Amino acid sequence: MTSLHDRHIKPLILKDLNGDNWHLADYVKRGGYSALRRILEEGLTPEQIIADLKASGLRGRGGAGFPTGLKWSFMPRQYPGQKYLVCNTDEGEPGTFKDRDIIRYNPHALIEGMAIGAFAMGITVGYNYIHGEIFQEYLRFEEALEEARAAGFLGDNIMGSTFSFQLHAHHGYGAYICGEETALLESLEGKKGQPRFKPPFPASFGLYGKPTTINNTETFAAVPFILNIGASEYMALGKPNNGGTKIFSISGDIERPGNYEVPLGTPFATLMELAGGMRGGKKIKAVIPGGSSAPVVRGEVMMQTDLDYDSIAKAGSMLGSGAVIVMDETRCMVKSLLRLSYFYYEESCGQCTPCREGTGWMYRMVHRIENGQGRPEDMDLLNNIAFNIKGRTICALGDAAAMPVEAMIKNFREEFEYHIEHKHCLVPTYL
Ligand code: SF4
Repeated sequence: MTSLHDRHIKPLILKDLNGDNWHLADYVKRGGYSALRRILEEGLTPEQIIADLKASGLRGRGGAGFPTGLKWSFMPRQYPGQKYLVCNTDEGEPGTFKDRDIIRYNPHALIEGMAIGAFAMGITVGYNYIHGEIFQEYLRFEEALEEARAAGFLGDNIMGSTFSFQLHAHHGYGAYICGEETALLESLEGKKGQPRFKPPFPASFGLYGKPTTINNTETFAAVPFILNIGASEYMALGKPNNGGTKIFSISGDIERPGNYEVPLGTPFATLMELAGGMRGGKKIKAVIPGGSSAPVVRGEVMMQTDLDYDSIAKAGSMLGSGAVIVMDETRCMVKSLLRLSYFYYEESCGQCTPCREGTGWMYRMVHRIENGQGRPEDMDLLNNIAFNIKGRTICALGDAAAMPVEAMIKNFREEFEYHIEHKHCLVPTYL
């Protein structure tokens, strides 16, 4: 009989990794760089590659879920000047830790995926922007780049072809906001990492004002595997509109936190089983399914939900980056929201008033509720502030700060009311 692991884990990016086999020779042994080789030797056209990606159903794995093939088709191929390809490894969302594992354990998958992207969009220069708090992974990626250059998989005339692609790593400074793609571009240009007004979008005005395509690490890393197994097989791993596999970073009150690559559409209950279930056999209370900005869902609802973009949206939240934070019955939702609110208050770049002021107001109000000084009208006021931030800011951080507040109050209103009325927590301390 096959094990639970074998029945449900269908890894592509994380397949056969043991922690030490990240080098180029190991990757080539696993079939690495064969997709790029086939493209260059068999003369696959950029149009064919983009059509394959569209057929695969691959959607951006960084959070937005935008179809990758469609995004690549926006790049003006005949643009006469420099164009850029950028990878967003600025993984700073609380709960998310998948991209660092990709560059730590399988960096060549990312390099090959970026080289294929560059070929498909006619780009000769690329950057990987790596979060400032992960220094070892940055060094690992630099080493992998050196290996790829020495073997002729990067640089001029790759594998003897006319295709050239120079790829560089850039170590960021650790600000959450630099994960927002236009703030990332500003930072890459050496400026303060603050989001730009849009439009214009990076596809027409990106790095140094030139057309730029930005994708997440996991998105690029999936590309070689899609071209190797074929678009339809990749799509069939998931379900319609939710093709392929996804790495879920599961953390919190579970037995075996970590990264699990499973087909999209896998039931959340199965992921829980793979991760060893609730720690200490406690009851599940709440789940944040897509990183700290995703609305919280009650545990019993999540246990009936599948892990794909559409099912999680139906449950009232979003798949986001696939960072699943599990909370058991001992967790106080007011305290949890306090931590989330503080994070967004700290990380606001301060450019727009609703976000700069609103995140501080929300944090201070949740702080007073948690500390027994809440007022009955505070919940409506919190909702009102959240409502007035959403959609009124330059970037999505405003929404990211507002959504947890609204969802916590909607799903766990009784806890907030109890805190306000009794000036202490509803969660029994003996648990
Ligand atoms: Fe900065 Fe917040 Fe405005 Fe985004 S929403 S630009 S983080 S102030």
